[in-house]
Amino acid sequence: MQRNRDDSPPADANYDHAHRAFLQAFLSQSVMTVDEIRPILAKIMTAHHPDRPRMDGDITQQAITSMVQAVNAKISPLDYEIRSAKDQHTNNTLTYALVNTTSDALTQLATTFTADQIAYIKRLLDAMFDENNTRKREVMAVRSMRAIQLAKAPRRDRQSQAGGDADATQLEANVKGISQIEADTVLATLVSQGFFHKSRHEYYSLAPRALMELRAYLKETYNDPPAEDDDEDSEPTIRIRDCEGCREIVTVGLRCSNRNCDVRWHDSCATQYFNSQQRNARRCPKCKADWTGDQYVGERADRTQSRSSTGGRSSVAQRMNEDEEDDEDE
Ligand SMILES: [Zn+2]
Ligand SMILES: [Zn+2]
Repeated sequence: MQRNRDDSPPADANYDHAHRAFLQAFLSQSVMTVDEIRPILAKIMTAHHPDRPRMDGDITQQAITSMVQAVNAKISPLDYEIRSAKDQHTNNTLTYALVNTTSDALTQLATTFTADQIAYIKRLLDAMFDENNTRKREVMAVRSMRAIQLAKAPRRDRQSQAGGDADATQLEANVKGISQIEADTVLATLVSQGFFHKSRHEYYSLAPRALMELRAYLKETYNDPPAEDDDEDSEPTIRIRDCEGCREIVTVGLRCSNRNCDVRWHDSCATQYFNSQQRNARRCPKCKADWTGDQYVGERADRTQSRSSTGGRSSVAQRMNEDEEDDEDE
């Protein structure tokens, strides 16, 4: 086995009790923020090297990253991986989770939920990423009232968003709704297990754990595959976009003011990028449109819109702009 640097032992020899204890911590806590990991890692490393006691503050991001990498090298053959994502709801705190990497993450929910409950969760995801995620308004969240309405089984004549797929239509016909009380329980479980986030404005959106576990599922389900070379006219539909800064999915953040531009940012990633530029010189890195910083992704997109319709803060020009584009949403 090759060594990276002279002083670093090969990854395997490096896997010791400390790594096992770190993995153990993830088995009991499915999601941990970087601030929750620090004291745990300090304890583990102190127990492992009693001669060198560590305080929480001694644990650098680099120490966490190399610990995660060493554990991942060991567990990836078992289809597990420790992934990280920013918690978009709490100032983009880095959050980690132990994730099963096999493709259909929704199937894994079957240990906790019944088939009808999983069908309900899929309806919630459709509401977030299809119904509430248009070219004009990328809300990517669902209000609690709508979430409860979705407990009812879809009408038989409703086509699944996948189109005329006979299997999907057949499956949908067999789906039974769940009661509103059951829907309430499913939602509460999703929140307590770190899959959903419920905002103080009563919107449900995806929490870091869901973003980490459903990353592939979301893109496969809601994004068209890249267009073939021979039909350049038809732009593939992209509903899930990555951050221009960190390349993770954005469901809460900012978008370019040019509706045709696919640049999206997490708030903190945008701040990092634009801070070095003079306010009036800020341009989108891709289309060079003026960067206004007030075009939102997430529930703020919905709330800004509601404000403007009741004569709130949005300018008349912006409202006219919205109206003009109304007919562009099919
Ligand atoms: Zn980002
Ligand atoms: Zn742009």
